[in-house]
Amino acid sequence: MVLEDIARTVVVKMQQIPQLSLLPVAELEKIPLGRLRRDATRLHAVCRYQKGVRKSEISGPNDVRCVDLHPAALTVDWQRYAEFLLYHEYLHALGFAGHDRTFRDLEALWPDEEARTMGKSFGNHLRTRAAKWLWTCPQCSKEYARNRRGRGRYRCRECSIALVDVKAEAVKPKA
Ligand SMILES: [Zn+2]
Ligand SMILES: [Zn+2]
Repeated sequence: MVLEDIARTVVVKMQQIPQLSLLPVAELEKIPLGRLRRDATRLHAVCRYQKGVRKSEISGPNDVRCVDLHPAALTVDWQRYAEFLLYHEYLHALGFAGHDRTFRDLEALWPDEEARTMGKSFGNHLRTRAAKWLWTCPQCSKEYARNRRGRGRYRCRECSIALVDVKAEAVKPKA
């Protein structure tokens, strides 16, 4: 997925949201786009402001240096979530700096309802990619992605059976 194409799609969709019609939505396309580090696991996207500009002083896209998205979101599987992430960061770029009530109301206007709830599964996806160990249930095969060994001290939430350590590299698909 090319970031600029996703950005174009998002801007077009935003131009169809009546509540945003008085805001400089077309200017959002001028904001440089970038990628977070591949191994980032907590941050999914970020809106970076120009040097010296405080969050409370953001008045529009000109105060934004760039918007970065997680590279793992730029795949066919996660494209809808990538669009929503960009929408979220673009709202910040329009001057809605914090995650207050107004911001959440605007965020809820994104037409792809399912995409708005994909954050949790994307987080799990990132943790699984990054994990060194999969604590695996010998009974139901459920895997718990972790960075340290469990050494048999933890039990499956479903079966209460002691989990076995499996090295993640051995089973991880190439991302
Ligand atoms: Zn935010
Ligand atoms: Zn189990």
